[in-house]
Amino acid sequence: MFANSPVDTIAFAGRDLFVKRDDLLHPAFSGNKARKFAYFLEHEFPGITQVIGHGSAQANSLYSLSALAKLKGWQCDFYVDHISGTLRDEPRGNYAAALANGANVIDVRQLLTANSLPQVTCLQYIEQQVLPQAPLAMFIPEGGRCAYAQHGVNQLGKEILAWATTNHIAGLRVFLPSGTGTTALFLNQYFVQQQADIRVLTCAVVGGDDYLRLQFSMLNPDPLMHPRIVNVGKKYHFGKLYYEFYAMWQRLNNTGIQFELLYDPLGFIVLEHYLQSHGSGPVMYLHQGGLLGNETMLPRYQRKWG
Ligand SMILES: *Cc1c(COP(=O)(O)O)cnc(C)c1O
Repeated sequence: MFANSPVDTIAFAGRDLFVKRDDLLHPAFSGNKARKFAYFLEHEFPGITQVIGHGSAQANSLYSLSALAKLKGWQCDFYVDHISGTLRDEPRGNYAAALANGANVIDVRQLLTANSLPQVTCLQYIEQQVLPQAPLAMFIPEGGRCAYAQHGVNQLGKEILAWATTNHIAGLRVFLPSGTGTTALFLNQYFVQQQADIRVLTCAVVGGDDYLRLQFSMLNPDPLMHPRIVNVGKKYHFGKLYYEFYAMWQRLNNTGIQFELLYDPLGFIVLEHYLQSHGSGPVMYLHQGGLLGNETMLPRYQRKWG
């Protein structure tokens, strides 16, 4: 289904860095979530007419699920805990693009309040009220954290391995910032299973190293399969604005490639520190897309720091 995403070379931290451009995977369906949802795109699901997801109203997974649903001819119902008034009045980014794809974005808090129902979480609502009445629906857990993600991530691993082989690159390390760690774990596992001399390095952008290690263990209890976690060295809260993130993002713009503002700034800060103390071997950064999210993140940064 997907063509191989290209690999570019940029100058970073006084050296060459390869960038795997998963942001360019497919015009309507790109980045991390497209890899994770590729299984659903590439298989037939007779009888299924609807996909159900949940998460934040600004999540990359909302947009990607809406794109998947459109390609499959499915209805997309996406449950969120809350939609802010600003976003509802002036849709932008992932939210706007998902609406344009025909997604129904359902504000669970508002729904419960309007019907005087007890306040439960989004996931509880889906499990208790929605799924029992939707036998023709495919439910996808938040952020695509599921075994199905392995299918598309293996394909990504295959592309990277073929690229390294063709270009005679030995001892490649692939760096990507992690949320749930699903992508990093399945990618490293692929390289270990293929006995490739490629390994994955990552850092925890959501939660800390212990949280990330726990996520790895839930997907695969064998620590030999786990990516190496490079410690961030400082506590950051996911989704909050930090001046050093904005400064790194602006620096990265000079490479001619646009990165996103939630995961990439911390990814590159950690990678830069790592490169300063870990020799000159070949390193590839995985660009995981998510650029639509900049439409909501960038104005927040600009309001704060110009
Ligand atoms: C979802 C996402 C991630 C995190 O992926 P995990 O597999 O949850 O670690 C990183 N970057 C972008 C752009 C994403 O959309």
